[in-house]
Amino acid sequence: MIQNTYDRGWRKNLTQEDIMMVFQEAYERGLAAAPTGKCADYIPELAKADPGTFGIYALDKQGRNLALGDVNTRFSMQSISKVITLAVSLKYRGFRETFSHVMMEPSGDSFNSILKLDTTSNLPFNPMINAGAIQTVSFLSDEFAFEDLLQFSRELCMDPDICLDEAVYHSECETGDRNRAIAYLLKSKGVLPSDPEKTIDLYFKMCSLSASAKSLAGLGIILANNGVNPFNQKHWLAPVYVRTIKSIMFTCGMYDFSGEFGVRVGIPAKSGVGGGLVCAVKGPYGIGLYGPALDRFGNSIAAVKAMEHISHRLGLHVFVD
Ligand code: GLN
Repeated sequence: MIQNTYDRGWRKNLTQEDIMMVFQEAYERGLAAAPTGKCADYIPELAKADPGTFGIYALDKQGRNLALGDVNTRFSMQSISKVITLAVSLKYRGFRETFSHVMMEPSGDSFNSILKLDTTSNLPFNPMINAGAIQTVSFLSDEFAFEDLLQFSRELCMDPDICLDEAVYHSECETGDRNRAIAYLLKSKGVLPSDPEKTIDLYFKMCSLSASAKSLAGLGIILANNGVNPFNQKHWLAPVYVRTIKSIMFTCGMYDFSGEFGVRVGIPAKSGVGGGLVCAVKGPYGIGLYGPALDRFGNSIAAVKAMEHISHRLGLHVFVD
C-alpha cells in the first residue's frame, strides 16, 4: 500500500484511507466511463478485448502497491512501446543521433497521420506517433534484434513475462498498410535509416508486446525515479535522457489530446490503442492502467477519466506544488 502520505508529490494531510478512497473513486469513474468508449478494431485482434475491463496499479519506491480491478490482464502495449524504443535509442545512440532522425515537436495530428510528413517536414514530428517511432525503430534495427528489444522491455517494465502476442502481431501484419505507407514515404524522402520491411516488422513486434497494468507501473516508476530501478538500484538510463523522455511524453504522449491531458492531468504519460496507459508521477510513483475502450483520440477512456481524478485529488500535476 502507498503509506507515506507526506512524501513530496502527494497532497499534504491526506491519510492512507483518503488516498485509497481517491483511487477507489477513480476506479469507479473509469468503470462508469468505459461504456462510452470503443475498443480499437482497425487491428482486428484488438476488437476481441472486453471493453468493460479496467484496472489501476500504483507502485511506490518501497514496492508498496495499490491494485484495483484487472491489473494482471495481458494486452498489447501498442504505442507504449514507443517509450521503450526511444529509451533504447537514447541510451545506446545518444541524444544527437536519436534526434537527427526524428523531431521533438507535438504534431497536433492523429497518431497515424501521414499528412504533414509530406508537406511540412521530411522528419516525423516526434517519437510518440507512428511515423516517429517507425523512424526510431528503423534507426535501431541494424544494431538490435527483436530479442534485444524484448529483453530491454522486460527490464524497463520489471516484468520477465513480457512476450510477443503472436495473434496481435499477425493481425497488425495483415492490416498495417498505413504504417507500411509511412515507412515507404520516409524511404522515398531518403530519411528512413534502414530497410522498410525490416523496420515495419520490428515496429509491429514492439507494438505486440504483451504487458499488464502492473508492468506499466514498473515502467512508470523507473521513469519517475530518474531512470533507476528502485528495487535493484540498476541505473537504466541517465537522468538527462529520462528528462527528455518525460518531456516528450508530456507534450506528445497522448496523441492529439496531449495538450488537454497536460492541462487536466499534468503528468508525463503514454497511451496505446491496446488500452494501456503508463504514468510517471512525481513522488516517485508509477501508475499503470488498462481499459481497452478508447476515446476518439485512441486513448483509454477509463484510464484518462481515472487519472484526471487521481491527479486532481492528490495534487499530482507537475505544475502544482
Ligand atoms: N500498432 C498501432 C499502430 O501502428 C500503434 C498505435 C497506437 O497505439 N496508437 O497503428
